[in-house]
Amino acid sequence: MTDDAADEADTNDEAAEASGPTFGDLNLEPKLLRVLDELGYERPSPIQAEAIPSLLDGRDLIGQAATGTGKTAAFALPMLQRLHDRPGTGERIPFGLILAPTRELAMQVSEAVRSYGAGIGARVLAVYGGAPIGPQLGSLKRGVDVVVATPGRAIDLINRGALTLDGIEVVVLDEADEMLDMGFVEDIETILQATPDTRQAVLFSATMPRRIELLAREHLTNPVMVRIAREVVPEGEAPRVRQTAYMVPRSHTTAALGRILELERPTAAIVFCRTRADVDAVTETLTGRGLRAEALHGGMDQEHRTRVVERLRNGRTDLLVATDVAARGLDIEQLSHVVNHDVPKSPEAYVHRIGRVGRAGREGVAVTLVPPASVRHLRNIERLIGKSVPVAPVPTVKDLNAARLERTRTELREQLVADLRSDDDDADGVLAMVQSLGNEFDATAVAAAAVRLARAGSAAPEDEIDIPVVSAPREGGRGSRDPRGPRGGDGVRGQGTRPPKAGTTRLFVSAGRAAGVRPQDIVGALANESRLSGRDIGAITIHERHALVEVPEHAADDVLRSLRGATTLKGRKANVRRDRGFAPAREH
Ligand code: AMP
Repeated sequence: MTDDAADEADTNDEAAEASGPTFGDLNLEPKLLRVLDELGYERPSPIQAEAIPSLLDGRDLIGQAATGTGKTAAFALPMLQRLHDRPGTGERIPFGLILAPTRELAMQVSEAVRSYGAGIGARVLAVYGGAPIGPQLGSLKRGVDVVVATPGRAIDLINRGALTLDGIEVVVLDEADEMLDMGFVEDIETILQATPDTRQAVLFSATMPRRIELLAREHLTNPVMVRIAREVVPEGEAPRVRQTAYMVPRSHTTAALGRILELERPTAAIVFCRTRADVDAVTETLTGRGLRAEALHGGMDQEHRTRVVERLRNGRTDLLVATDVAARGLDIEQLSHVVNHDVPKSPEAYVHRIGRVGRAGREGVAVTLVPPASVRHLRNIERLIGKSVPVAPVPTVKDLNAARLERTRTELREQLVADLRSDDDDADGVLAMVQSLGNEFDATAVAAAAVRLARAGSAAPEDEIDIPVVSAPREGGRGSRDPRGPRGGDGVRGQGTRPPKAGTTRLFVSAGRAAGVRPQDIVGALANESRLSGRDIGAITIHERHALVEVPEHAADDVLRSLRGATTLKGRKANVRRDRGFAPAREH
């Protein structure tokens, strides 16, 4: 695709919407129209009015539209029309393929396509991971017209020879940005390459980062571009959001987040994470420090998700830890904070996230954790919102202690006032016990000991870790090259591409962030399976699909022998070998 080849149509034109075409104007088969009528669809939505004619003409198309715009019908109706028009029905191999990022979305889309195609008897099947493959194999064997698949399961079925793409005439990438963010790019490329050159390709995405343009350029032919412009917030009604960024090494983001949330004490917050594995890990860490946090992700069934959201709404939990996909469409009036555990790569996604707070004249808070490699994403956000996001220091252990003391003081005061007011005659014997201690010790010392006892064990293990200070590099920088902070080279894990420290060797581990691997998992695996102790293990760098770990040179062979070339991380086998050289970091 070349930019000027893309016809662009901005469809957010109210006049067009009011006087736009009817479904009857769109040259759709009466059997399809009847279904739309039964569903109560009166007129095509803007995205449908724009996209359907081009798709019926056989053009490739890029649609920028979020959920809720009617995009599913925009790609499904022309696909079904073409299915209906083709000679020879009852083919056993699929005619249409729709790729969606999550099981949840695959199910939703297949439901929608099935309902739109009911009148023409379209056979629609959803296939996704995390479900037994047997029934999916059976359905494919019996023959389906449209397959809605998550990329991983599609690849699996293709490799088993169960999903044949030779007959695909229309392929759709739904929520393409999410699929790329979830690390599916290679799977998508493989799938697209396996479809016939003559197929029609359609790409829908809520945002249009450069990676999506590149994907489209590679796989779409002279596409039409259809865009639903973002809702514009009228002057004066712009949400009031206090935005703060915290610079922190990636390996310390979750620990830093725990501290920030402990100080901020949000009453209702969404914590956005990039992947489902991050959602689980972050939820675990936050719950571990006594915060009321619950996970919300696409792997949960609808009923469970609704329950979790309700718990936030009615104050039984304070934090929802979610992926963008899972939180899409969520509108929670009470929301006080939006927290970005990772900087969204698309500035529009950031604006979209923080638009959830600061409604109805209330002040909202947006907190963003920024690892050095993501500083450039923060700069892009600042360019889009037209102002800089102030950087605050990550709370130190001292800050936390001060805040906790302050809280204890408030609670004690409340208890003292309540005790004064009550005419309880020491039924529980606490007063008598304290008085007897008072004979032995100074009353202030007794009170201080009581407070210490009550607080014992309330500190989270992360509080013992020093979170290194990272300063924001100047505009245009790639991020601080050496995020090791003032303490020097020991202890910061998860960053850096410098050569290994003298006397150490770097090992390559074939699993990374995409598999949910965290530095502590690698420390655990190595310390369990070899004679190394956690303290011998040096810097650990977690990349998307691999990790690098520094070990003492003299111990490397021993480690590799003990592991016999492999270990188990997050329940999966990962190969471990000497790193064959160091490449520049590629943060995804
Ligand atoms: P989608 O963006 O595809 O997830 O669709 C959002 C919702 O709008 C779904 O509940 C659809 O059933 C509904 N919808 C889609 N197109 C129309 C239309 N033309 N008129 C009324 N509702 C629609």
